[in-house]
Amino acid sequence: MVIVGGGIMGMSLAHQIRRRSNLSVVVLEKGIGLGEGSTGGSSAITRQRYSRVENIRIARDGNRIWRNWSEYTGLPDPVGRFHDIGVLWMMDDDPAAVVRDCARLAAEGVDAVVIDADGVRERFPALSACMEPFDLTGEVEHVCRDGSAFLLERDAGYFDPTGALLDVRNAAVAGGADVRMRAEVVELRSGRGTITGVRLADGSEISAGLVVNAAGPWCNRINAMAGVDHGWELVPTRIQVIYRDLPPEVPRPLPVVGDASGGSYFRPEAGDGQIILGSILEEDEREEADPDDYNNAADRSWIDFKIHALHHRIPSLPYTGVPGGMASLYTVNRIDVLPVVGPTHVEGFALMNGFSGHGFKESQIVTSMMAQWITGERAAFDTDVPMEFLSIDRDPIAMGDLNVLA
Ligand SMILES: Cc1cc2nc3c(=O)[nH]c(=O)nc-3n(C[C@H](O)[C@H](O)[C@H](O)COP(=O)(O)OP(=O)(O)OC[C@H]3O[C@@H](n4cnc5c(N)ncnc54)[C@H](O)[C@@H]3O)c2cc1C
Repeated sequence: MVIVGGGIMGMSLAHQIRRRSNLSVVVLEKGIGLGEGSTGGSSAITRQRYSRVENIRIARDGNRIWRNWSEYTGLPDPVGRFHDIGVLWMMDDDPAAVVRDCARLAAEGVDAVVIDADGVRERFPALSACMEPFDLTGEVEHVCRDGSAFLLERDAGYFDPTGALLDVRNAAVAGGADVRMRAEVVELRSGRGTITGVRLADGSEISAGLVVNAAGPWCNRINAMAGVDHGWELVPTRIQVIYRDLPPEVPRPLPVVGDASGGSYFRPEAGDGQIILGSILEEDEREEADPDDYNNAADRSWIDFKIHALHHRIPSLPYTGVPGGMASLYTVNRIDVLPVVGPTHVEGFALMNGFSGHGFKESQIVTSMMAQWITGERAAFDTDVPMEFLSIDRDPIAMGDLNVLA
């Protein structure tokens, strides 16, 4: 089989196939290095609070893998590491709703607790527990008001995204997969309505019984080559992040924080010496027509806007140095914000597309579903969530939120 795209989805599928079968697997990646797509820009947060129980289970089962990374990859000394520093939800929700949400997570085996403002200060002394929406225009005087109920996922956090990508690539290659870089697929070969292989930019061809589209924000091009019209709206979407120095005088530990008052999330980065901050607001996403032509620098005005809310949440964070930023793409399914995964109506062609801001945490579980379907074999760490939940011919799923919080 051929996998088009060597991001976290494509490389992980190669590993998932080879750890359970001898099926020939070729991964074709157009980049000259790893992580040139969404995966390289990912914040790689592995929270489990979702509105749909299936998504909670996918994230929970994924965390089991991140926690046992060496055993799962078979690598004695993997590069990537799970930072299970906890995920704190500072959303100013109704306390009764927070308690209900916590019970929903606990029922699925997620280690979550509800804490109050003092609990936040005790565990994370750098954080303000204020939940008064921060007026970023500076026109309204801000008076702090403690929130009353915060949800803390204790067994979640983030993983090193490019470390994970390198590890699954190494695991796949060690398991016998053929991974080729600078290998851009420009055409799909077909005969009698069946996809039979691919043609590369250098003119070479590879035959395959199955071609899987794991091309991230470029997925629509590959689907068009296959003649697949699945009816879903998969849109390459620009999303920005900010980096700010996190000097030693800011008290540790810091968790991953979902912060409604700043419309953002943030977490420690770079060996705890930086903070990375991104947006949880749909208005900060921008649809892009061409994944090869977008502005990958963060907008100065957006950085200035968001950084003030971060300083309000972490009052001891000094205003020193110049915050940096960048923008990258993820692919949003505009119809129900869930990915589409599995076989298509075109024989010999399957896809894993449209992961929005969730694809990193879901990667090992989505590829577990795909590998079970492709090989008919089960392996340790497999999920029981059925692939039909994300299938192409499903009806749109009713979601709590139609945005990155979903
Ligand atoms: C800023 C940001 C923050 C995020 N934060 C989180 C988070 O906190 N938690 C989370 O779970 N997820 C997060 N995500 C989402 C997650 O990173 C993505 O959903 C995931 O990385 C998608 O992986 P992928 O393999 O499908 O795509 P990609 O990583 O884009 O990989 C696709 C690959 O296909 C290659 N390709 C494309 N066309 C061709 C072709 N014709 N021939 C050969 N190769 C081709 C590309 O070069 C690319 O490397 C975030 C994403 C971004 C951008």
